[in-house]
Amino acid sequence: ITIGVASETAAGERRVALTPETCKKLIARGAKVRVQRGAGRGASFTDQAYVDAGAELADDAAATLGDADLVLCVQPPEPAALSRLREGATLVGLLAPQADAARGEAIVARGLQAFPLERLPRTTRAQAMDVLSSQAGMAGYKAVLIAATLAPRFFPMLTTAAGTIRPSKVLVIGAGVAGLQAIATAKRLGAQVEGFDVRPETREQIESLGGKFLDLGVSAAGEGGYARQLTDEERAEQQRRLGEHLKNVDVIVCTAAVPGRPAPKIVSAAMVGGMKPGSVIVDLAAETGGNCERTQPGETVDADGVTVAGPLNLASSGAVHASEMYARNVLNFVSLFVDGGELKFDWNDELLAKTVWPERAAA
Ligand code: NAD
Repeated sequence: ITIGVASETAAGERRVALTPETCKKLIARGAKVRVQRGAGRGASFTDQAYVDAGAELADDAAATLGDADLVLCVQPPEPAALSRLREGATLVGLLAPQADAARGEAIVARGLQAFPLERLPRTTRAQAMDVLSSQAGMAGYKAVLIAATLAPRFFPMLTTAAGTIRPSKVLVIGAGVAGLQAIATAKRLGAQVEGFDVRPETREQIESLGGKFLDLGVSAAGEGGYARQLTDEERAEQQRRLGEHLKNVDVIVCTAAVPGRPAPKIVSAAMVGGMKPGSVIVDLAAETGGNCERTQPGETVDADGVTVAGPLNLASSGAVHASEMYARNVLNFVSLFVDGGELKFDWNDELLAKTVWPERAAA
């Protein structure tokens, strides 16, 4: 089989789905690997490194992917590029096929076997393949660094000849994978860190990182380890307590999400208005609309003295390690079916059966 990896085409995307390390491992499994020249540049992997790992180089996307049996990507190729893939080819990446009708149609029209990695069940066995987790870790880390850069205050406590500086108070909203990494990072920078989430089990996780659990009296564990949407009453209670609390917070990092839904609005414009001037909000949920009402996705704005940043695709800003993790996740996933130079799909394996798109009719 031939595995093809073209340059990512989405604006600002620096990551790559294959690293020289994973390239070597796929070749050891009997595959031939073809990489578009420059595909690794954004993540600091040179063409020569791929050649040394055993890959062939190609000049453009068409030559890279035209006869590929398996195509690896981070973000979905344009519909036009999909329609140039070989019929029946297998495609692995963050494909969000339902997010864009033209893309979904191109996948179906070409008879592609797509594995949108965001569909992977989050079971213990799938952890080593979980790109959402690995990329969220980078995003949570970077969000705190952005907050520290934008803040007009130190994070740590300092005792200096010019007096004592009090540590910044950082609140992380949402303690999933990104939120926990944000808590750990803010803690390392010396801030006083609090976290809150609607899943009660996060209390212990937050505390184990040295953070304090902010109890807003709302608990909403949903299915499959995710949160459910809050009822109106629950939301009102959460809002009231939070608004009071935020008057004393210097930095908020927002990471709250509910799968398949727009980001829950948690920090209202009025709450932002009640914060101290010079406070900073970094809203990682900006991709899906933001947890803060004042967030403008992709922008950093001054909301009456409070800086509100809504960065997009933060994982890409840590492209080297984000790609290393992403590529290992992909290697672990495709190892389920790249077998001795062939593609062999075991549809009894739930990781394949539940991830493939369009969904397979039950046998
Ligand atoms: P996510 O990105 O969907 O959401 C981020 C966090 O926001 C979640 O912790 C959620 O509870 C929280 N949240 C939602 N609404 C909220 C609200 N109104 N107020 C405050 N917080 C709110 O989540 P994620 O980081 O992808 O992971 C969520 C869960 O999945 C965790 O339990 C995690 O341990 C689990 N997980 C399991 C695996 C695995 O076993 N393979 C891998 C990754 C994550």
